Amino acid sequence: MITRVFLVCTLLLLLSGPARAEIALELTGKATEGGLLIGKTDPGASVTLDGKAVRTSEDGHFLLGFGRDETGSKQLQIALMGQVIRRDIAIAERAFKTERVDGLPERKVTPDPKALERIRQESAEMAAVKASSTAKPLFLSGFLWPARGRISGIYGSQRILNGKPRRPHYGTDVAAPVGTPVHAIADGKVVYVHDGMFFNGKTVLIDHGLGLRSVYIHLSETLILQGSMVRAGERIGAVGQTGRATGPHLHFALTLDETPIDAELLLGPMPE
Ligand SMILES: [Zn+2]
Repeated sequence: MITRVFLVCTLLLLLSGPARAEIALELTGKATEGGLLIGKTDPGASVTLDGKAVRTSEDGHFLLGFGRDETGSKQLQIALMGQVIRRDIAIAERAFKTERVDGLPERKVTPDPKALERIRQESAEMAAVKASSTAKPLFLSGFLWPARGRISGIYGSQRILNGKPRRPHYGTDVAAPVGTPVHAIADGKVVYVHDGMFFNGKTVLIDHGLGLRSVYIHLSETLILQGSMVRAGERIGAVGQTGRATGPHLHFALTLDETPIDAELLLGPMPE
């Protein structure tokens, strides 16, 4: 009898509109230039940002990334079974600094035609790898600093190389002796390992899911095979000075699809 009453009540609840639960939405991270938001909604919900579809994992996770010069407000919309919720996201502005780097070998600043062909080939290879990304939210492992050392370069600074203005520095530099261990910043799949790119030198690229990737360059050695899965904190290589580098350091960078993200916002201060 009790069971039957309970069932009827449940049915009434299901049939009456107002009792229906709102679509779930959780956002963590910083809505700022170079920032990444990790979103979680109900499985099966469709997510758009300013009308553009946002990829979601099976369990309802999604990522929103904002570029270095992305300002203003964006509208997040989530729809599920005829229900819609909207949230305005205001992107906070930041000031970026100007950095001068002098004394680089001239052919690494202004490459000759042969080098340009090699650079073109290498970036085509990288682009092909970046055409797909796993739908699994591997980034939920959280983020760890990939190397210990002095932070010698930060995200977003305008670079002037040998007096010539170049694109902003999209990454974080950690100055450390050659051979200092380099670790994966989060769980992921190693999708690219290169033994010596023109600018990057020895390189590892890791896919963390839903278009989020980390890259580690100028390595002295790589210790992981292309195609393997890695855990946050797992050793993948060592600090070096290969490619275009003025001294031994790790340059690492995060991107969401093509948008460069400031990893430091996710990592917090460098551990002692
Ligand atoms: Zn760098």
